Amino acid sequence: VKARAEHLLDLLAETEVDVMLIGELINIRYLTGYTGTNGLALIGPHTRTFITDFRYVTQVAAEVDPAYERVRASLDLLEVLPEALPEGGLRLGFEEEHTSVATHRRLLELLGDRAELVPVKGLVERLRAVKEPQEVERVRVAATLADAAFERLLRDGLVGRTEREIAIALEHDMRERGAERASFETIVAAGPHGALPHATPRDEPIRHGDLVVIDWGAQCDGYCSDCTRTVAAGEPGDQARALYDLVLQAQLAGLDAVKAGRSGRETDASARALIDAAGEGEHFGHGLGHGVGLDIHEGPRLSQRSEDDLRAGNVVTVEPGVYLPERFGIRIEDLVLVTDDGCEILSSVTKRLLVIE
Ligand code: ZN
Ligand code: ZN
Repeated sequence: VKARAEHLLDLLAETEVDVMLIGELINIRYLTGYTGTNGLALIGPHTRTFITDFRYVTQVAAEVDPAYERVRASLDLLEVLPEALPEGGLRLGFEEEHTSVATHRRLLELLGDRAELVPVKGLVERLRAVKEPQEVERVRVAATLADAAFERLLRDGLVGRTEREIAIALEHDMRERGAERASFETIVAAGPHGALPHATPRDEPIRHGDLVVIDWGAQCDGYCSDCTRTVAAGEPGDQARALYDLVLQAQLAGLDAVKAGRSGRETDASARALIDAAGEGEHFGHGLGHGVGLDIHEGPRLSQRSEDDLRAGNVVTVEPGVYLPERFGIRIEDLVLVTDDGCEILSSVTKRLLVIE
């Protein structure tokens, strides 16, 4: 964790900023180790300051790198900024995507001539996108645990259970196996409901022959996993099988394309080309994948509009889907580690179409 602030300084050197104010909690956790819910960090070449309120003093002592000077504030942490900042006029960077208009106004009022405010975008996120080996290890633990819970889930069958029951069973099992929580709200979407990529589980029982999209993940030691399988609750029919195979071929093409140096756009295109060629392009409305780490959706993005390039150490999903409104949806998602010559797949559940009643 100590070295991460140094890496941030390297990136700050490319900007006009003297000291960076970090307020986004996942970025704070990444840089300092703090897992509480109220904190601010100031980082500059000669500045390491951590600000929190009385509720977190003990936690900060235990979690935050001792290199940081501790400042205790009222619940309103910004109040102490004028005293906490180094002397002299300086350019204070703030995270523009995570700062509300109200906070920005507040900063202007509090700091007056003490500091010039400089908007900065995505610096810590750039660091977070490339995982250290111990971060990859945590993602791997989360993925292994989530896969085991999924395999256990299928042993009890699907038909007659509601989407919500299945989601709860999966989440409960992941917690019993040691996950802190599900890494996002589990999606269980059967039949026509599966045509909504972000469906919320309903109190509707799964019916015989439904295709069921299950998208789930565990969070362990802060790190998330993310995986999707589409399972048939009884023989789904020829058209569904053909489309399943199309999505699977696209997913394999996407995996084949993942490699350090390739752009997020090209990677997306290599999977999308197959779905387009089959005339289903309009039914694949989202990007191919996203980075996963302390947050379930982070950089780099694999999509038609992505500006990102893949780098060794990225952990990304590859998740094409085809969604036929009012009929069914199919998505197949793996979590992978990007390497110099390809990728290592972290998801272990079979991608054969499972027929499980
Ligand atoms: Zn997912
Ligand atoms: Zn995903």
